[in-house]
Amino acid sequence: SFESLTSDFYGYENGLTDQEKETIVALRAFLEAEVRPIVNGLWERSEFVPRSIVKGLADLGLFGQPWKETQRFENSAVFRGWVALELARVDASVATLVGMQNGLVMGSIAVAGSQEQRDEWLPRFASGELLGAFGLTEPLSGSDSAQGLRTIAKRDGDNWVINGAKRWIGNGSISDVTIIWAKDADDGQVKGFIVPTSTPGYSATRIEGKQALRIVQNADIVLTDLVVPEANRLQNSNSFRETAAVLRLTRAEVAWAAVGNSVGAYEAAVKYAGERIQFGKEIGGHQLVQDLLARSLGNITASIGMVTRVSQMLDEGTQRDEHSSLAKAYTTSRMRETVAWCREIFGGNGIVLDYDVIRYFADAEAIYSYEGTREMNTLIVGRAITGKAAFI
Ligand code: FAD
Repeated sequence: SFESLTSDFYGYENGLTDQEKETIVALRAFLEAEVRPIVNGLWERSEFVPRSIVKGLADLGLFGQPWKETQRFENSAVFRGWVALELARVDASVATLVGMQNGLVMGSIAVAGSQEQRDEWLPRFASGELLGAFGLTEPLSGSDSAQGLRTIAKRDGDNWVINGAKRWIGNGSISDVTIIWAKDADDGQVKGFIVPTSTPGYSATRIEGKQALRIVQNADIVLTDLVVPEANRLQNSNSFRETAAVLRLTRAEVAWAAVGNSVGAYEAAVKYAGERIQFGKEIGGHQLVQDLLARSLGNITASIGMVTRVSQMLDEGTQRDEHSSLAKAYTTSRMRETVAWCREIFGGNGIVLDYDVIRYFADAEAIYSYEGTREMNTLIVGRAITGKAAFI
């Protein structure tokens, strides 16, 4: 049966519907049984989760909850946020996998695809038959991808021919389908394409040596004379505005995942503080350790309040770019403090993977930088405050 987390100090999660709570209960059981026991090994070996985990997440209905074609039951953005938090509480790479498949990939098709494309593709991602990736960032264009994309799509009769390169694409070396964003050679506007990775001209190489979110298989992708039929162009993607609409949806969920990553570190620290004895008593009995725990809980509690409200605004239809940007910039900053305080509580053991906390600490760095860095999200908020865009 459902119980709110002790780290959800004000009991926000109790506000979910019974059906939403049932999914959370099933998700927690799945994560504890299938993911937690293997996650440090996968992280150390930088290995993707077994495909059975992708299938298990699909069976829980986690892919496609926002979209009418694939949702299991009517649900709120706050619920989907809690799903991201609960996932990241166990492992942020798994939360990232769901965020990519459910948010960025299915989101691109839902936001910018035609009804025909939604019907054709969404169920296949929802069932886990297809694993997706989202290709926007490039070697020479990260924060400035609204203006700076160099990947070009040239219309050729009923087809498009795409040339260019992408970098950092999560699961881009193992995906079945990657959404590729490219500039139309004729009108200069950014358009999205559904690209099966078996298409000749698609070549992906895993980025080696990554020290955060090591389970996510980030890739460098080279696209050489890749031919995509017009039927695979996202039919309603006419400019970067649609790309931005997808990112707006996912950014708030990344903010939730950041809180989940903090919660994972915090829960590990509370447990350790109750076990480790120094100066003849559990370190949790020392005042300065309690200070670190209380500060961490304060960060988590303030962040849950913020992300709850920003998700309610999505459902109310009032959420704008600057709202999700503020949530992402704020919660990831609080996460960075929290994981550092929690790691501190472990002393030397805090850098040993078996104690978990170093994984949360390292993963925080990737969450802090992807889906818009703190600086870029801050500038989006700054533009809303002052009416002046400082980043164009
Ligand atoms: P840059 O844009 O080069 O920025 C470097 C620094 O300069 C940052 O601190 C930035 O804030 C700062 N900066 C840049 N411009 C300004 C400015 N105007 N004012 C102030 N500061 C500025 N992308 C995808 O398309 N798909 C994915 O699946 C994906 N997954 C990712 C997974 C991971 C683990 C990581 C690390 C990245 C992923 N990305 C993905 C890319 C990610 O979105 C980019 O890394 C991010 O947008 C930042 O771009 P950049 O790394 O090129 O940094």
